[in-house]
Order: sequence, then C-alpha cells, then structure tokens
Amino acid sequence: MAERFHPSDDIAANLAAIKARLDRALAEAARDRQPAIVGVSKMQDEARIRDAIAAGVSVFGENRVQEAKAKWPAIRADHPALELRLIGPLQSNKAGEAVAVFDAIESIDRPKIARAIADEIQKQGRAPRLLVQVNTGDEPQKAGIAPDQTDAFIASCRAGFGLEIEGLMCIPPADEPPAPHFALLAKIAARNGLNALSMGMSGDFEIAAQLGATHVRIGTALFGARGAQALPITSA
Ligand SMILES: *Cc1c(COP(=O)(O)O)cnc(C)c1O
Repeated sequence: MAERFHPSDDIAANLAAIKARLDRALAEAARDRQPAIVGVSKMQDEARIRDAIAAGVSVFGENRVQEAKAKWPAIRADHPALELRLIGPLQSNKAGEAVAVFDAIESIDRPKIARAIADEIQKQGRAPRLLVQVNTGDEPQKAGIAPDQTDAFIASCRAGFGLEIEGLMCIPPADEPPAPHFALLAKIAARNGLNALSMGMSGDFEIAAQLGATHVRIGTALFGARGAQALPITSA
C-alpha cells in the first residue's frame, strides 16, 4: 500500500503534494493520463470548500444528497462551472433530488435505482453522467453490484432503461490490498466499452492512477481530517 499522507491545514499545499505524487506514480507506470482530482467535501463546511476552489479544485464529491443540497447551491451560484459528483449510496426516493443537484452520479447499483434515475432524467430533461458502482470485494454490507452480475446490469441499464453509462466506480475492502480490485474494475470496464474509472482515495490514489483511474476521490489528503470542523448533522 502507498504510504499515508499527513495532510496539513493548507489545502493548496495538500493539492500540490497530491499532484506531485500523482505525477511520480504515473511516470513510474509510464502512463500519461492524469486522473481528475475529485475533492471529497463531505463534512467539510462551505469555507473549506471555497478554500479548495481557490486552490484550484474544480470537481467535488459528496456522499449524501441532503448534505449536498444544503451546502452547494450558494457555492455553485458563484462558481457555475464546478462539477459536483454523488459518490455515496442512493435511495430511489432521492433520485429526483440527485438528478437535479449532481453533474455525475457514481452509485448506480441496482435496477430500482436505474429505473428511478431514468424516469427523473426524462422528467427533468437533465442528464448527469452515470457510473455503475461495483462491489469488487463482494462484501455483504457494501453498496455496489456484484462483479459477476455487472455485465448483465450494464446491459440492462442501456437496453432496458435507455441510460448512457460512462464508467465504473469501486471502494475496495478496507483490509485488502487495493490493486487487484482496481485491476478488476478496469477489466470489467474495458470489456463493456466504458472509459471512466472512479477509483482510489487518500490512501491508495497512486496505485489507482497507475491502474488507469480517470477520477481519484480524495478527502482527507486534501482537506485534512474530517470532523476537525464539525457541521451540524441535523441541518436539511
Ligand atoms: C469519503 C469517501 C472518499 C474519500 O475518502 P478519503 O480517505 O478521505 O480520501 C472517497 N470515496 C467515497 C465513496 C467516500 O465516501
């Protein structure tokens, strides 16, 4: 595993360190495709997010629809070109809000969600980019479609629901080396003709980049520890 970061409070310095480490990892693997750095802003307050924007982060990830709805409209009013991605599990009764708020939804993982998203895209005339989340470790408690059902699910998203799927996302088991999970995700994507690969977090983004990540989702290495400045959880 890659060594852990010790991020400071200085988001610009953290971002520069992340980019330098990505450059080094990509050079080592003789790859030249830089993944997009998705700043994972869950539990970060508006001021910290604005600091990250000032430092140059332009793509963000949130894992809860309600939290994103509470924080982002004001920020987006000032920065309309930002991209906001849903990286957490989605319930079908939140599909309408998710389609309205997010530019990408990375957590499509079952027919009920695919249908709800398809209905909302029709209704709202707004189509976020869509990724299928794969439970590469087949962990019972974790969201995502099982690897051996992914091909059929992608086919049914396309043919059954008319959805354009752009790529795949995974969160490897916490207690296993991540590389085989990233490699599996890349393999499933390739055989389904998918380009986007959202994989890698603060502890393993370099390995993910070496294995073809197009998006690395980075929270603590960018912002510092979550909860350092607690948000009221009761809001929204
Ligand atoms: C929180 C979260 C991340 C970021 O985790 P860090 O270890 O803080 O970088 C990435 N992906 C998902 C889905 C998350 O929920």
